[in-house]
Amino acid sequence: GAANLTEEEALLVRKRQALLGPAYRLFYEHPVLLVRGEGVWLYDAAGEAYLDVYNNVASVGHCHPHVVEATARQAATLATHTRYLHNGVLAYADKLLATFPAELGHVMFTCTGSEANDLALRMAFAKTGGTGVIVTETAYHGVTLAVSQFSPSLGPSVNLGPHVRTVPAPDPARGGDAGFAAAVEDAIEDLQRHGIKPAVLIVDTIFSSDGVLTGTGFLKGAVEAIHRAGGLFIADEVQPGFGRTGEAMWGFQRHGILPDMVSLGKPMGNGYPVAGLVLRPEVVAEFGAKARYFNTFGGNAVAAATAMAVLEVVQREGLQQNALIVGRAFHAGLEQLGQRHGCIGAVRSAGLFLGVEVVSDGAADAAKAARIVNGLREARVLISATGPRANVLKIRPPLVFSEEHVGIFLDRLDTVLTAL
Ligand code: PMP
Repeated sequence: GAANLTEEEALLVRKRQALLGPAYRLFYEHPVLLVRGEGVWLYDAAGEAYLDVYNNVASVGHCHPHVVEATARQAATLATHTRYLHNGVLAYADKLLATFPAELGHVMFTCTGSEANDLALRMAFAKTGGTGVIVTETAYHGVTLAVSQFSPSLGPSVNLGPHVRTVPAPDPARGGDAGFAAAVEDAIEDLQRHGIKPAVLIVDTIFSSDGVLTGTGFLKGAVEAIHRAGGLFIADEVQPGFGRTGEAMWGFQRHGILPDMVSLGKPMGNGYPVAGLVLRPEVVAEFGAKARYFNTFGGNAVAAATAMAVLEVVQREGLQQNALIVGRAFHAGLEQLGQRHGCIGAVRSAGLFLGVEVVSDGAADAAKAARIVNGLREARVLISATGPRANVLKIRPPLVFSEEHVGIFLDRLDTVLTAL
């Protein structure tokens, strides 16, 4: 429906267009003007509370006091980069690497997930001597020139590089592990036919922009295939990482595979820009001997203190376990609601990463998904939609979400669906 913007909202919309230009997009027909966040709640200028069921960045809850205190304390003490000795970045690297298999022995710091993937690509090119990149059909891996060229979810406005091949996301209906491995093998052969040596297979291990595909066990064959071809496997953990899937700290662990490199971002700093790349030492050995890596803000003292505080909260508050338990209740509640509302199709979930197919007569219905997303916004609940057909409700709350919050969400969704 037509949104009734307040005078202030309309003014800010016009100012954004005038100052930030035309490339920015707001969420919702009626944009949300936020001024404050706390836990799973966001507040607008009028003091109205919105239930945040979408923001995986504020993973330990908006403005978590332990994190805010750590950021503020370090900012008030010392804010320098990684060309001076400082224990903060090392203490954090130690604690972070302890959550990974021993083979992944180094971490390098960036400020964004895009930069982490860009660095991974650079190192893979150096290590393998190849340039070929294989990604899933609706993948998103970031904004740099190199990374946008293998982010097909950006749509036809961005040309995939001539060295990039896409494969359908893994699907039990297309043969699961064997089917995905076969598709990757075809892509490898096609690269080789064109004289391009494969360098990487990169996947988001929860396939967020491919529609939130929560199944497991279908990456083994594909990883073996890229290794046989002399390439490396990168697990993009920007979405599923830091315990969100409940079943594991890292999404790749759910698939029983061991990546060569792992990119991290979003929830790592709970809103502070800190990201990184975890890798096997042998991947960076030659690169490091020849090339110098310095990222002015990556791993700075404030970033390290903030990320340390975030990881402390994830572990102390048992947020991975909470994601598992609350995620199960959430999944069950959505399926129950689906029995009364025909437009709710398959529900997929791993912990607090949930995807809900919106359908009409069994077919994907993007328009209805958009009406639900906007209807929930009017009911002051924030989610979004995703997937190749834009009909999958993307439900991804802060990990401090409780069963009580699930109840609030389901009540409001029920109301919105009834009014459709
Ligand atoms: N990889 C994935 C899977 C992502 O979802 C994103 C961000 N949406 C990125 C990489 C890029 O991260 P950033 O926006 O921090 O550059």
